[in-house]
Amino acid sequence: MPIKEDFIILMPLYEDMELTDELSNWVKARTQGMISGTSVPAKTKGRFDCFCPQCHEQSTFISTETKSIVNYSYSNNRRMIKNEIFFFSYACARDERHKIEIIIKIIDKKIIKIGQIPSLADLQVKFSEKISKALGKQIVSEYGRAIGLASHGIGIGSFVYLRRIIEQLIYFAYQKALEKGSVNQEKYMKAKKIQDKIKILRKELPDILVKNTSLYSILSKGIHELTEEDCLRYYQVVKLAIDLIIEKYAASIEQEQILKNMEKEINKIHSVLS
Ligand SMILES: [Zn+2]
Repeated sequence: MPIKEDFIILMPLYEDMELTDELSNWVKARTQGMISGTSVPAKTKGRFDCFCPQCHEQSTFISTETKSIVNYSYSNNRRMIKNEIFFFSYACARDERHKIEIIIKIIDKKIIKIGQIPSLADLQVKFSEKISKALGKQIVSEYGRAIGLASHGIGIGSFVYLRRIIEQLIYFAYQKALEKGSVNQEKYMKAKKIQDKIKILRKELPDILVKNTSLYSILSKGIHELTEEDCLRYYQVVKLAIDLIIEKYAASIEQEQILKNMEKEINKIHSVLS
């Protein structure tokens, strides 16, 4: 099976891989006829399907630009390639300003990805525009970090970011309850355990979080007591729970917005009619 573009895009950073004939052919096919340091569109147009973090949708990315830097070493009057660095740029078919750019280095029969934007984590945060908007930039970016860390085998770090997501949702719920005047501020401040705070804010939080307060304890235990391996072992289940909480939260924000707009419109009609 030939190497596909998305294999190169989804390769983690800094992990070297053996430069197999297949990988070597992939690089050659996309840099054919190129002179060092010049930018020539690749003859073989690479394309692949991938989530576009800017469209918030699955899209197709098409190769638009390839550059190379080749360093040589000389021994006994023979020129040998010391190392090669390649830059690949791909543009989203929906909007060419949406780019995925990667830098690959080939050295000693090894291929290493040394740069990529957007990050692997950003490409894996497959939230719709609606959910991203409801969550806000900070949660979306921390969710991306949690995924990115777990995919690099860093379980404890991943748990830190997942726990922060829950803490931020609780904070948003508290702010909302304050606005509505539905929370006793003193009682809330006095509650030491997060489980008690969740209980106080139960009307403002997704049911799944209210019913599963142990999720927060698991994340805390992960951060303070468990090993990297333990955190990675529990990661999938914990992430699934966070995903469900996020979905419910985003849906409730959307519903509130619809309700608000509807009330506004009804008031407008009422004032016209009365
Ligand atoms: Zn796009």
